[in-house]
Amino acid sequence: MLDAICTYDKTHPKIYSIFEFKLLPETEIDKLRYSLLCPVCKQKAYFRRASKDGKQACFGSRYHEKDCEEFNPSASKSEEEKQLAEVEQIILEQDSLLIDFSKPVISRKKSSQTEPAEEFEAQKERHTVQERYLTKAVQSSKSNKAKPQSAGLDEENNLPEVSKQGLAKLLTSLLRGSSLASSDLWIYTSEKHKWRAKNLFVNIKDAQPTENNAPRMYWGTISHADKTLNWLNPAEDRSVGLPVSKYREQLLSRFDIDEPTDVEGAGFILFGKCVFSKDKKRKYIYLWGNDLQYFYLSKV
Ligand SMILES: [Zn+2]
Repeated sequence: MLDAICTYDKTHPKIYSIFEFKLLPETEIDKLRYSLLCPVCKQKAYFRRASKDGKQACFGSRYHEKDCEEFNPSASKSEEEKQLAEVEQIILEQDSLLIDFSKPVISRKKSSQTEPAEEFEAQKERHTVQERYLTKAVQSSKSNKAKPQSAGLDEENNLPEVSKQGLAKLLTSLLRGSSLASSDLWIYTSEKHKWRAKNLFVNIKDAQPTENNAPRMYWGTISHADKTLNWLNPAEDRSVGLPVSKYREQLLSRFDIDEPTDVEGAGFILFGKCVFSKDKKRKYIYLWGNDLQYFYLSKV
């Protein structure tokens, strides 16, 4: 995307080319970057500075409409389409879905880094726990299923399976505007906890502290990070921040993040709680248990 519409001045939106935008003073960029839209489909856009490894500064959007001409047909697009279709099918055909937090994260890890044995063991353990959740979820789904209305239905052949999906696919689906965000699908986040999808998934622009600090699955895109990579700032609402210092090292290593530009434009989803700052002017999203299995980042 070579241009973006800036709606910072709502009555006089301005079109910036990437070449002029990247030359603006840093304070100006930080002021305007929250107000960028795709010039074609008018969806939320982001700005990425040039990175040290030679990537040019650019505009982009994770929210392009399906037929937007700025959304280049590419390998990543067709992979996204596949993931979208998969989730849509679950929404249409099934009544519940289990989130598989143990799904391995595919990141381009440097080959010199090896997985510490402890982490591996922890993942194995998690996986076993998730398997148990699944079995339970399937069983309870079966036992809760009401008898079919029509006597002609073969109950055995009409029982739903509980599908398992990792955060990556769910995030793709949400970003691309699937019906997941408004669906009545039951989502299991653990053996004991299930939620209607529409009550669980919250876009960052709608994030509000909940009664009893109940967690939600917050999702959106990252505008930029602070220089020390202790804060991630969502693009959708500048009053919301993700303090990541408590799990910063793991986060950087798991998602192969070296510098703040690496996260600009990234999609994210995390299970956590939203709380007000002391002066109530800002909202923070805290990761549940500071446990990185509940956090997924999809870099550009
Ligand atoms: Zn677009």
